[in-house]
Amino acid sequence: MIIRPRIRGFICTTAHPDGCRAHVAEQIGYVRSQPALDGRIGKALVLGCSGGYGLASRIVAAFGCGADTLGVSFEKAPAENKTATAGWYNNIAFEDVAHRAGRYAKTLDGDAFSDAMKQRVIDTIRADLGQIDLLVYSLASPVRAHPRTGVLHRSAIKPLGDPVHIKTLNVDKGEVHYADLDPATPEETAGTVAVMGGEDWEFWIDALQSAGVLAPGFRTVAYTYIGSELTWPIYWHATLGKAKEDLDRAAAAIRGRLAPLEGDARVASLKAVVSQASSAIPVVPLYASLLFRVMKEQGLHEDIITHIQRLFATQLCDGAPRLDDQGRIRVDDVELSAAVQDEVKRRWPLVSTENLGELADLDGFRADFLRIFGFGIAGVDYESEQDPLMGRTAEG
Ligand code: NAD
Repeated sequence: MIIRPRIRGFICTTAHPDGCRAHVAEQIGYVRSQPALDGRIGKALVLGCSGGYGLASRIVAAFGCGADTLGVSFEKAPAENKTATAGWYNNIAFEDVAHRAGRYAKTLDGDAFSDAMKQRVIDTIRADLGQIDLLVYSLASPVRAHPRTGVLHRSAIKPLGDPVHIKTLNVDKGEVHYADLDPATPEETAGTVAVMGGEDWEFWIDALQSAGVLAPGFRTVAYTYIGSELTWPIYWHATLGKAKEDLDRAAAAIRGRLAPLEGDARVASLKAVVSQASSAIPVVPLYASLLFRVMKEQGLHEDIITHIQRLFATQLCDGAPRLDDQGRIRVDDVELSAAVQDEVKRRWPLVSTENLGELADLDGFRADFLRIFGFGIAGVDYESEQDPLMGRTAEG
């Protein structure tokens, strides 16, 4: 079949197998063009490995550090006339290149929040790797079935306290407008913390440590977003920010538990990029479109892979990481620099539907969004017949 993007709101319901393969290859090519990294990361586990920051982390671990990687993601397999999710194709593409390079690479697909997946990972590490040196926690999910209580928690992307009247962007229509966002109830805030906070990260470390599969000097990193005060009403000072505060709490708790291994646990604050998760957050597409334009004009733009390469090269593989006063790794320093933020803030009150093309980079945002699903990648023939099953049976 010929596969075209089919966009519904902030998701694309199709994915292009050749395009996803080329997108993964492009990222691997970038990492291979950079100096090799020596972070004593020989074996890495990446939770949320199939897209966005998790996929980039797996690529840098494998092709920058030369690590064997085990990945976990939650993706949909293809059916006869329906494509898989992009992450499903990305995982296959990554494994193919890693295997050809002589690297161990295995991906387990299923619910990372469950005890069953934790056990599968432990069994796989025991059988194939022995112990791991690094765990990257890069899950982004709207729901979490709690493994101990059975409660299905849902996250809500809402402000706290008072309603918020704020500028935003309809990416589909290219229209800047104001949105009224109702504040979260205490239950919604608690739900968001349960899904995107640090408890599951702690459960992972507890399970892996009890099983004896963490190597001496083991390190773990989880990703956060702090961002600019322009997005604080819907992010850092909102439900998601509460969840991310809980990640900071969990990092400190995990550091304590890793002391016998002389290990370390850090939250790393990353820059805003277009991912499946971030496209769903109101205000973020407008902020990111302005940010991309300003960072490109200032010659400072980073995409997902260049950003994660910098995280590994300058923080994880370069002696002790340099930390902020909360003990976090910061690679959002360029996004949050005065030169960038002053200019984004100057444009914020001015930006409108009419001048979006002059002040912001909506085209860049849209292109990055399509690339997530394998569309718009250089060198891919989008008129060619694709086999959504990639020669496999629908059962996988
Ligand atoms: P993404 O949507 O691109 O990827 C999410 C990953 O989680 C996918 O691999 C998906 O399969 C996996 N996943 C989701 N639910 C799962 C489950 N139940 N079991 C197993 N796997 C599951 O997300 P992203 O934007 O790369 O976000 C990753 C992390 O980075 C998040 O913590 C996010 O807050 C953080 N972050 C993102 C940005 C940004 O701008 N995108 C900025 C800073 C920090």
